[in-house]
Amino acid sequence: MTKFATESAVTPELLEKYEPVIGLEVHAQLLTRTKIFCGCSTRFGDAPNSNVCPVCLGLPGTLPVLNRRAVEMGMRAGLALNCTVHEHSRFARKNYFYPDLPKGYQISQYELPLATGGFIEIEHDGRTKKIGITRLHLEEDAGKSLHDGFPLSDQKTYVDFNRCGTPLAEIVSEPDMRSPDEAYAYLTTLRQILLYTGVSDCNMEEGSLRCDANVSVRLRGAAEFGTRVEVKNLNSFRYLAKALQFEIERHIGVIESGGRITQETRLWNQAASRTDLMRSKEKAHDYRYFPEPDLLPVHVGHAWLAEVRSSLPELPSAKRIRFVSATGITAYDAEVLTATKELADFFEAAVKAGAPGKAAANWMQTELLRRLNDSGKEITASPVTPAALAELLKLVEGGKITAAVGKKVFATMFETGRAASEIVTAEGLGAQVNDDAIEQAAREVIEKNPDNVAKFKAGNEGVFKFFVGQVMKATKGQANPQVVNDIVRRLLS
Ligand SMILES: [Zn+2]
Repeated sequence: MTKFATESAVTPELLEKYEPVIGLEVHAQLLTRTKIFCGCSTRFGDAPNSNVCPVCLGLPGTLPVLNRRAVEMGMRAGLALNCTVHEHSRFARKNYFYPDLPKGYQISQYELPLATGGFIEIEHDGRTKKIGITRLHLEEDAGKSLHDGFPLSDQKTYVDFNRCGTPLAEIVSEPDMRSPDEAYAYLTTLRQILLYTGVSDCNMEEGSLRCDANVSVRLRGAAEFGTRVEVKNLNSFRYLAKALQFEIERHIGVIESGGRITQETRLWNQAASRTDLMRSKEKAHDYRYFPEPDLLPVHVGHAWLAEVRSSLPELPSAKRIRFVSATGITAYDAEVLTATKELADFFEAAVKAGAPGKAAANWMQTELLRRLNDSGKEITASPVTPAALAELLKLVEGGKITAAVGKKVFATMFETGRAASEIVTAEGLGAQVNDDAIEQAAREVIEKNPDNVAKFKAGNEGVFKFFVGQVMKATKGQANPQVVNDIVRRLLS
């Protein structure tokens, strides 16, 4: 897991004296074609204010209609996060004023959220840790204030309402994380689950995954939590870790100098690498929540829930366990190969096509991923298909070509998309050196090196490698090394 260097004025002894307590609130945009309460498109990047209608602009007299698909996406996420998805949940109005919120309120869920009481397991420092999920609720997104890039941007702020009404799931964790590294692992794992289940594309640059953190510190061993501060605007994995580290050290600094932390909301300022005060923390009653009168309560029947549950794919943690037991790869390999569903599917297809699990795992992590990375290609656009990789690995494992030749063949496959056997035949790369030819070469090598033969016979086993190397050289690296080994040993004994 990634480690983050701490460059701070707080000494390691002081850091050790306190324990950070972190909880995350993640907003994930649900992958629906249309908005949560109207038929407008959710497409990203369209011209400002082109995907709007009277409903998402909040014009008087309009009524919202709940998008069934958005609820289903929320249910998928809730189930994948081990939550209880409730039969009854309800939307509520969260009232506040902001220029990008034309209705003057946001439709969210409050006392009766869609799902509660789940958890996910994170891997950190070689240990598995459970992080509780307090709740998952559905809500609509607000619009966007645009401060730059328009003719009068120096005098005015422009507003784009395209995002108004885009469906979101807000996923709130328990304050179970004890370091920025754990928070990083949590967000990574959560993102992986949301991607696997197709609930969100989790594109942080386009804002479809956003993260706020609640941070406090307490003396190690203390039972009570310290005063917590909310940090907003953590819109990349890197910012998250840096902002948390900064905030933890700020808290320790304030407390150690006799001050007190006040409950407030702060913004991560990436340019200055610090958090800035945004506002004093708002309380729930500031929003004057009340049940949304324009929408019926949400009802999730048993049949619907069962249907959604049965449509869930195998989750990454289950896949890792299965890969290890079914194909004999290591836990580390399994973690790398399940990083994305596409990578896992590739591995599985290669094994199904006859590739030995360990070899497929090794070749994918070295030859394939390196070349994909160098050429900027996604695994789904790999010029070498899983079946083609399997064919190559069968040639290598069966001793038809050596591993070194296999790597050359793989390079050609990647460049040209041609099949392994075709390349081997066309370029005469096969281990066509037959046993007789190997024996002939071995006899010659032995004849020319009587000194080394004597050493070997005197018990110097190290000399054996010299003979094998010479025979491989004489056969231009195209002999099967195992056969060479056997023949040399037979002739020497
Ligand atoms: Zn609309």
